[in-house]
Amino acid sequence: MTAPAPAPAPRLTRRSLLGGAAATAGAAALGTAAAPPAFAAADRTVDVAVVGGGLAGLTAARDLVAGGRSVAVLEARDRVGGRVVNLALANGGFTEGGGEFVGPTQDRVKALADSLGVATFTTYNTGKNLLYKDGTRTPYATDGLLGSVPPVDAAGLANAAIVQSELDSMAAQVPVDAPWTAAKAAEWDKQTFESWLNANAVVPSAKFLLDVACTSIFSAQPRELSLLYVLFYIAAAGNESTPGTLERLTDTAGGAQESRFVGGSQQVPLKLAATLGDRVVLNAPVRSVTRSGGSYSVAADGVTVHASRVVVALPPPLAARIAFDPLLPAARDQLAQRLPMGSIGKAIAVYDTPFWRADGLNGQVVSDSGAVRSTFDNSPPDGSYGALMGFIEADEMRAYDAASVADIKAAVLKDYVNYFGSRAASPTSFVVQRWDDEGFSRGGPVAFAPPGVLTAYGPALRAPVDGIHWAGTETSTYWNGFMDGAVRSGERVAKEVLATL
Ligand SMILES: Cc1cc2nc3c(=O)[nH]c(=O)nc-3n(C[C@H](O)[C@H](O)[C@H](O)COP(=O)(O)OP(=O)(O)OC[C@H]3O[C@@H](n4cnc5c(N)ncnc54)[C@H](O)[C@@H]3O)c2cc1C
Repeated sequence: MTAPAPAPAPRLTRRSLLGGAAATAGAAALGTAAAPPAFAAADRTVDVAVVGGGLAGLTAARDLVAGGRSVAVLEARDRVGGRVVNLALANGGFTEGGGEFVGPTQDRVKALADSLGVATFTTYNTGKNLLYKDGTRTPYATDGLLGSVPPVDAAGLANAAIVQSELDSMAAQVPVDAPWTAAKAAEWDKQTFESWLNANAVVPSAKFLLDVACTSIFSAQPRELSLLYVLFYIAAAGNESTPGTLERLTDTAGGAQESRFVGGSQQVPLKLAATLGDRVVLNAPVRSVTRSGGSYSVAADGVTVHASRVVVALPPPLAARIAFDPLLPAARDQLAQRLPMGSIGKAIAVYDTPFWRADGLNGQVVSDSGAVRSTFDNSPPDGSYGALMGFIEADEMRAYDAASVADIKAAVLKDYVNYFGSRAASPTSFVVQRWDDEGFSRGGPVAFAPPGVLTAYGPALRAPVDGIHWAGTETSTYWNGFMDGAVRSGERVAKEVLATL
């Protein structure tokens, strides 16, 4: 290890105290059991500077500490968790504004949660789903032959089944660690998912089913995505022993939406950060990473960390906002320039009771119109109040970019009335989390690849640049784009860094 610059004695600043106070207040408001981490900000010298206190950065820090290395995690926001956040509700409860669901084969986030004492419960899934199409509302059971596939016309169902099976078999030909090496990578990466669907999902109702699956998974329209990237994402929806499938991405029972975390998903990063204590510095957006000899100065607002290695655990387009000196290789920077975030908001309406349950509905909707086209029952496990959560995605989210919360609320409640009846018009409270407007996310759930990017720049995704290593869910081989992928990326990058120290 190179000799770093001398570190000033640790000191508490007003900023760090406010960060700690805010974290404490947030944790109390959300009923969290974990003691908040002590956030002490000062210039520091450590082995590894970790940029980003989401699940990826915090997991990397945990493993680096376990490997005997000193670490500082610099987090821009006044909280940890990044795309995972609990939001306080007026009724004293909370809801989840970002990543929320976990499911089979998401082994690493489950293992992390287990190790922190955060349990899971089954997503409310009793009763019928709803298809809302052409203004008609059709409840349907999901335990029949079709499973959770909405009951469109027979020709559409037959076509959709063929398309789904074709996508799964093409995905099986994509290596999750290097999709750009697939035998047909060039052919698949030069077309959009839309152009492939136009040629294969030829029955309009089948195209509708695939379109809605696409926007629900990526918060991007099929025209925005590379076919190769979509196939990779399907392949990644599994683990080392279980191949990924499209169904596992879209399903509730047996799929990625199967379970939720008791106390809300942010319990996981909050408790993880608590184990790291004052290694985590809040309110510290990193502005520059400067190499001098064999060490780096990582400058955040009010605090600079000197380290021999840097882990950047951010979505690539956010990492591109940091000034690197010397400049990153062109391939790495151009990759980051070409991976946009999806457009997503989450709208949660809270009611005294989950009234739709008495109507035999499980709260899950697939719709062809409205601001919200996919919903879930987000009530707490004891059902003590009702919460309907809807995703506002892709073109719909963009359409509301400049809209006020009041306008969004009116549009969302109109949809909820169409789906669940007039009682949905009068929630006791309403929350909308607009990820596109979050300065340290700028969208979600994931940075995705348009055509031509993976084949031209894919190898730069994880390749370290001298002492700079890359993490974040976008770098994961399995469950890329998910909390599990974030954890996997943190575990992988820690091993990678430890091997070099
Ligand atoms: C609405 C929504 C719904 C989702 N639903 C699910 C779901 O149900 N299940 C699931 O598994 N996943 C879901 N996801 C995805 C999941 O939340 C993410 O994949 C995961 O949380 C990403 O973790 P990460 O650590 O890789 O990145 P992030 O969580 O983005 O962490 C990056 C961190 O870096 C910080 N940061 C940014 N810039 C800087 C800087 N310059 N300096 C310092 N810090 C910086 C950010 O504040 C952030 O804390 C959802 C995401 C969204 C937005």
